[in-house]
Amino acid sequence: MSKYLESQFSLTGSRALVTGASKGIGAQIAIALASAGADLVLLGRSSESLADTKSQVVALGRNLSELICDLSDPKSVAALIPKLANESVDILVNNAGIITRADAVDASLEDWNLVFQTNLTSLFQISQVVAKKMLAKGAGRIINIASLLSFQGGIRVTGYAASKHAVAGLTKALANEWGAAGITVNAIAPGYIITDNTELLRKDADRSAGILARIPMGRWGTPEDIAGVAVFLAAPAARYINGEILTVDGGWLAR
Ligand code: NDP
Repeated sequence: MSKYLESQFSLTGSRALVTGASKGIGAQIAIALASAGADLVLLGRSSESLADTKSQVVALGRNLSELICDLSDPKSVAALIPKLANESVDILVNNAGIITRADAVDASLEDWNLVFQTNLTSLFQISQVVAKKMLAKGAGRIINIASLLSFQGGIRVTGYAASKHAVAGLTKALANEWGAAGITVNAIAPGYIITDNTELLRKDADRSAGILARIPMGRWGTPEDIAGVAVFLAAPAARYINGEILTVDGGWLAR
């Protein structure tokens, strides 16, 4: 790598925390950050669920630790906060998220609360505690995983769309507050990506064909399509990007 690229894109010497690192987009982001030189803290619901990602990070020669938490459970998050307060993190990737599907009139309050707790409330709590140390240090990167449904309403996913609009708003609010202290807060809004999150859509032949027909690039995205963008936002090259919701959607929103 040239000295210039090294100075702009290397993450050597930094430590990154990725939530939802067991599979899908979060796993690929963790592996990409490790490939770019970062040490990793992986957050998952169990040590077993993180096994694949852990072995790939270790194979890259990076230091690794794990945090176990069920982000859908306020008590589990409350137990996480003091542990997080002891961690020094340079890059925080708030990736964990869930989706539930139902007609709006039938959607349950239980699902609404579950989605908001997992996608938004825990993200805010984790950002708060991690940012305390970043503020003291005068540097840090926070990358939230938003969605196309941070801009659009989607179909039968009211709680998810509302939570992801809120993630976009929170990203901008935190960027405003923490930018002067050297912390950038940005979000990636992935398009339609092949993960467990979209399995039901891909199994529905009509929806799947309709989605594909609207993507100008003519293919669904992969977790790897998102991972490099997270490296970019974490890297020195992105130092002046703050409060941005970066869509990575093969052109979906341009249509
Ligand atoms: P996956 O279902 O493949 O991965 C979700 C990740 O979040 C898993 O690691 C999962 O852990 C973790 N997670 C879910 N619930 C909890 C919880 N209660 N506590 C801790 N971790 C939890 O989906 P994706 O990789 O697609 O999703 C990652 C992010 O990307 C989400 O925020 C999603 O909304 C967003 N996104 C995805 C898109 C797509 O097309 N796939 C499009 C736009 C946004 P576990 O293994 O324990 O379930």
